[in-house]
Amino acid sequence: MAEGTQSSPSSLSSNPQSTRLPIHQTPAGNPEFITVDDKYRCVVCNGIVREAVQTQCGHRGCEQCFSQLLQGNPKQVMCPAGEESCVYLKENEIFRDFGARREVRLLPVYCSFKTEGCKEEVPWKNLQAHETTCSYKPSKCKFSQEGCQVTVVLKDLQTHEEGCLFRLEACSYCLQEIKHHLMQDHLETACLEYDISCPFRCGVESATRRMMIQHYTNECPRRPIECKYNSIGCKFTGSKEDVDNHIRNELDHHLELSVRRSAETGLKGAQAKERTQELYGQVAEVQQLIAGNVKIMHEAKENIESLKKNIKDVKLKVVAQTERLITVERKIDKLADQETQNRLGGEMHILKENQSSIETRVTQLERAGPVGGQNGWSSY
Ligand SMILES: [Zn+2]
Ligand SMILES: [Zn+2]
Ligand SMILES: [Zn+2]
Ligand SMILES: [Zn+2]
Ligand SMILES: [Zn+2]
Ligand SMILES: [Zn+2]
Ligand SMILES: [Zn+2]
Repeated sequence: MAEGTQSSPSSLSSNPQSTRLPIHQTPAGNPEFITVDDKYRCVVCNGIVREAVQTQCGHRGCEQCFSQLLQGNPKQVMCPAGEESCVYLKENEIFRDFGARREVRLLPVYCSFKTEGCKEEVPWKNLQAHETTCSYKPSKCKFSQEGCQVTVVLKDLQTHEEGCLFRLEACSYCLQEIKHHLMQDHLETACLEYDISCPFRCGVESATRRMMIQHYTNECPRRPIECKYNSIGCKFTGSKEDVDNHIRNELDHHLELSVRRSAETGLKGAQAKERTQELYGQVAEVQQLIAGNVKIMHEAKENIESLKKNIKDVKLKVVAQTERLITVERKIDKLADQETQNRLGGEMHILKENQSSIETRVTQLERAGPVGGQNGWSSY
C-alpha cells in the first residue's frame, strides 16, 4: 500500500512543512479507534502513526519518533521493528509515507462523547466537525453567568434552559429582569410595584411597595423611630408616642450620655455639642416651668395676704361697731324716758345683730383663709 505513495527521498532534517499538503495531516487528539491494523502502528511508540514515515525495511513510524531516535548517534540505530529484514537507520533513507498518512485519516473512531451516549463512528478526519455539533456534547447552561453550574448534553440543553432556576424572567409588576429562583424573593422583599400591607400593621392594607415605603418611613403612626439621642448612645426605639415619652422622662439619662460622650470624644464631635445644647435648652424649658409654678404660688400667697387684710378690716369694723354700741348704751343710761329707752332698745337690738353677723363672718374667713401658715403656703 505504501508503494507508489512514497515521496522522493528527502532528509528528515529538511523542512517538511514546505512539501507537506494539509490534506495528509494527521488529525489532532487521541480518539478511541474501533479497530486498528498493526500496519498503522508506530514501531517506536506503538501508537497510531502520526505524520507517517517509512524505513528502507518497510516499517512505519511517526516522523517525530524517528527524528528523536536518530538524534545523537544515527549510524548505530537499528530499525526498532526488530525483524530479520531490518536495517540500520539512516536519516536520508527514511521517507514520508503519504499513502499511510491518508489512510490513517480515514480510520474509523468513536465519538469522544460515547460515554455521554453517542453511538457515532466517524472517520478520524471528520471527528472534530462531528463533535462540534454532537447531540451528546456536554454543554453549559446559557445562564452560567447568572449562577447556573449545570452542564447537560446538547440535545437536553434547551429543555434545561427553559426550566433553569437561573433563567431571567421579566417581573410582571415592575418588568425588571429577575432570575427565576429569586422571583418570589423579589416580590416579597424588593419589587416596588408589588402590593404589600403596612409592615407595622397600622391598618393600611394595600399599596405598591413604592407607596408603602413612603408611608411607613414618613407617615405611619406605628413606625418605630429612634430616640433622637441615638447618636450619643441612646438605644431606645419605639413609636413616636413612646419616643416622646422617653425623651420627656429620660432627661437625666440623655444629659449623662451627652456628658460622657463629650468627655470621650474630647468635645470634638460638633453633633454631640449640638445635642448637648439642645438638652440644655430642654433644661431651660423645665426651669421656666418651675418658675411659672413658683409665680402661681406667689400669687396664691398674695391672695392669702389680701384675705388676711380683709379679715383685719372686718375686725376694725367690728371694733368701730363695738365702740358705737358702747356710746349708745351710755346714752341709754343717761335717759330715763321709757319711751326713749324702748326706741333705743330697738336700735341696740339691731346693732347687736349686726355685731353677731360680723363675728360670724370673721370666723368664716378665718376658717377659709389660712392664717399663720398651717397649710404650708407661707414657705413660699
Ligand atoms: Zn511513534
Ligand atoms: Zn524494520
Ligand atoms: Zn457524537
Ligand atoms: Zn441552567
Ligand atoms: Zn418587580
Ligand atoms: Zn403603617
Ligand atoms: Zn433616648
